[in-house]
Amino acid sequence: AGVLYLCPTPIGNLEDITLRVLRVLREVDLIAAEDTRRTRKLLSHYDIHTSLTSYHEHSRRSKGDYLLDRLCRGQSVALVSDAGTPGISDPGEELVSAALDRGVPVVSLPGPSALLTALTVSGLPLARFAFEGFLPVKSKERRQRLAALAGETRTMILYESPHRLCKTLDELAGALGGNRLACAARELTKLHEEVRRGTLDELREHFSNRPPQGEFVLVVEGGAKTGPDSLQVEQTHLSPEEHVRL
Ligand code: SAM
Repeated sequence: AGVLYLCPTPIGNLEDITLRVLRVLREVDLIAAEDTRRTRKLLSHYDIHTSLTSYHEHSRRSKGDYLLDRLCRGQSVALVSDAGTPGISDPGEELVSAALDRGVPVVSLPGPSALLTALTVSGLPLARFAFEGFLPVKSKERRQRLAALAGETRTMILYESPHRLCKTLDELAGALGGNRLACAARELTKLHEEVRRGTLDELREHFSNRPPQGEFVLVVEGGAKTGPDSLQVEQTHLSPEEHVRL
C-alpha cells in the first residue's frame, strides 16, 4: 500500500512549513486538501505542482473511500487542512483510522498548530494540559462541558471564533470564576498577532470594549487541586504561628 502522510501547513505565516512537508507535498501522488483553492495558493508559492483533490467535512465519507482505494493501490497521499495540523479540529481523524484498519501506513509530520503555539506563549503551566477544541454550540451540551471544566486542574486550551469570544469568556468566568488566569492569543504568526494575558474578568472587559477580530485561542489556567491530599500538604508547610494567622 501507499503511505498516508499528515502534513501540517502554516497557521498564518507562509514561512512556517517544514522542509520535509514541502518535499512530501512535492513527491506524493495526490494531495487531499480541505479547501483546494487555499492549498493551491500555498503550493504555487512553493512551486509545487502535485495533483489536488478535496477532502472536507461534507465529503469525508465518499472521498475517504476514494482516497483509501488509491492508497490500497500503492499510491501515496498527503492530507492537509486549511491551516495547522490535519485532524486537530479539522478533518483527518476518520481517514487515519480507516487507513490503519486497512493496513495502510500512516506517517505524521510535525509542524504548526495553533494549539501548541498558543499554549507555549501563554505563560501558564505547561506540564499537563487539556485540549478542548471548540466548545459545543448547543446550549445544553455547552453547559455540560463548562460544568465539567470547572473540575479541570490542567491548563485548558480552547479554539474560538471572534463572534463568540465574548460569550465564551462570560461563560468561562461564570463556570470557573472571574479571577482565573487566562490568555487570549489572537492572529498567531500573522501581522496583527496579539497575546493578551489576565484574569477572565480582565479579558472580558478588554474585548467587550473592542470587538474581537481574527482567529483566537483561549488558554485557561487549571483549577486548584482540592481534596484531602492537597490540604494535608498545605498544612504540613505551615508553622504553628502561620496556622494561627490564617
Ligand atoms: N488544525 C488547526 C490547528 O492545528 O491549529 C485548527 C483548525 S480550527 C478549524 C481553526 C481554529 O484554530 C480557529 O478558530 C482558531 O481558534 C485557531 N487558530 C487557527 N489559526 C490561528 C491563528 N493564526 N491564531 C489564533 N488562532 C488560530
